[in-house]
Amino acid sequence: MADNDLGALDTLSALTAQVDGEVVTPDHPDFEVARRVWNGIHDRRPRVIIRCASAADVSLGVAFARTHGLPLAVRGGGHGVAGHGTVDEGVVLDLAAMRSVSVDDQAREVTVGGGATWGEVDAVTQEAGLAVPGGVFSRTGVAGLALAGGYGWLRNAYGLSCANLVAAEVVTAQSEVVQASATENPELLWALRGGGGNVGVVTSFTFRAHPVDREVYFLMVHHDASDGDGARALRDFRDFCANAPDSTSLMAFAGVVPEGAHGFVPGSAGRPFVAFAGMVLGDPAEGERVLRPLHEFGVPLSDASGVMPYVEVQKAFDEEYPDGMRYYWKSVNVTDLGDAAIEAIAAAGRTPASDLSTIDVWHVAGAAAEPVDGAFATSSAAFLVNPEANWVDAADDDANIAWTRSLVSTLEPFSDGTRYLNFAGFQEEGADLVRASFGDRYERLAAVKAQWDPENLFRLNPNVRPLE
Ligand code: FAD
Repeated sequence: MADNDLGALDTLSALTAQVDGEVVTPDHPDFEVARRVWNGIHDRRPRVIIRCASAADVSLGVAFARTHGLPLAVRGGGHGVAGHGTVDEGVVLDLAAMRSVSVDDQAREVTVGGGATWGEVDAVTQEAGLAVPGGVFSRTGVAGLALAGGYGWLRNAYGLSCANLVAAEVVTAQSEVVQASATENPELLWALRGGGGNVGVVTSFTFRAHPVDREVYFLMVHHDASDGDGARALRDFRDFCANAPDSTSLMAFAGVVPEGAHGFVPGSAGRPFVAFAGMVLGDPAEGERVLRPLHEFGVPLSDASGVMPYVEVQKAFDEEYPDGMRYYWKSVNVTDLGDAAIEAIAAAGRTPASDLSTIDVWHVAGAAAEPVDGAFATSSAAFLVNPEANWVDAADDDANIAWTRSLVSTLEPFSDGTRYLNFAGFQEEGADLVRASFGDRYERLAAVKAQWDPENLFRLNPNVRPLE
């Protein structure tokens, strides 16, 4: 029997006996549920899924994978688009049970378990009138999002999630539990700020939190983009962003009104739209005034703008990305959002392969545009363009993937050649793109990787090879 053959039941039994959480193998009644991740296109069958309850469980799981030479997938919230939270014939460490959130409101710091979601963090921090910059969707994991960047409605005011990471507890490739902070293993902390899952499994994050009022102004309006108005809307958006205050984080998105969508004027299904969405910190009335030009661009096909609780803003898109649908998202950091790039975005927005897809244009400025003291390489681009193909049937995979790739390659000449690595397809483009996206951070990150994971055990991610 080979060393890495899990038919050695005693080995698996030994693992099961020691783990505080639960070990799920293909014969377990929960296996079908436990193996699945949010993106239904990734249909994989791990050999062992460990539902970790503690750092000690994570440590055991890492040792188990290492000892048996099995590929290791690490899952926080399970919403990685690339699907690295699951793996065929390998070990999955699922941290979903490790979801505690505690706030130190004096220090304005929040400590979060490695499997918590942003919605859980927002609910607790808002009790103290605080928030940590996360994403724009409440069900994504803190872990995957924060470790590789983190763009949300607080980005231009308070920076990306990774820039707000002040400490972490980490299980290393050698199964040690170590701390990373300004005083303990500071290079490890540096690598966690943007380096993805490359250097260890994070069992606890501590973030800086910021004052955010319970009620904020949120813009969410879909404008009709028939008759060529899509390009005009995107030009207006670009020009508006040039003078927008840093208290404001904005996004435009282009697509067609989906069949059966709620809240749109009757008869609008299939019509092209350009939507504007954004949040303003501070006095909601002032927020409404600041964003009025975007609101009044045209006659809306739908309008969900208004004053609302911050925690509800964070859930505004939750229903649009159900578990198990098929998803393929990419991104380009666009340095030149001139008329040619805008025409390309508007044209692709009118002709998606699925009416559930959109092209998202994120405005990146203020604190989000400042260099991060970490592995995240800040692009000089003011716009992150992110075509996201969302569809239902496997028969439509090729058309949707092709639509996304086609727009990315059209936009490449207007970009700096980097990606946001959380929106990087299935990360199939390989080492060169990862190297380009880490830019001048790459060598230092590879050196940290060599120190903490010299065998590249943590490789199901935008992988950085250990420096030789
Ligand atoms: P997982 O699949 O669990 O993890 C992704 C990867 O992170 C894993 O493969 C692993 O490499 C690593 N990882 C996970 N947990 C750990 C851990 N505890 N320790 C070490 N490594 C770990 N991004 C934004 O920036 N802003 C957004 O607004 C935004 N919105 C999104 C909306 C939706 C619906 C989705 C699906 C994604 C969105 N994203 C956004 C992208 C998001 O940042 C990534 O998909 C991210 O990977 C999700 O993290 P997760 O923990 O849920 O995923």
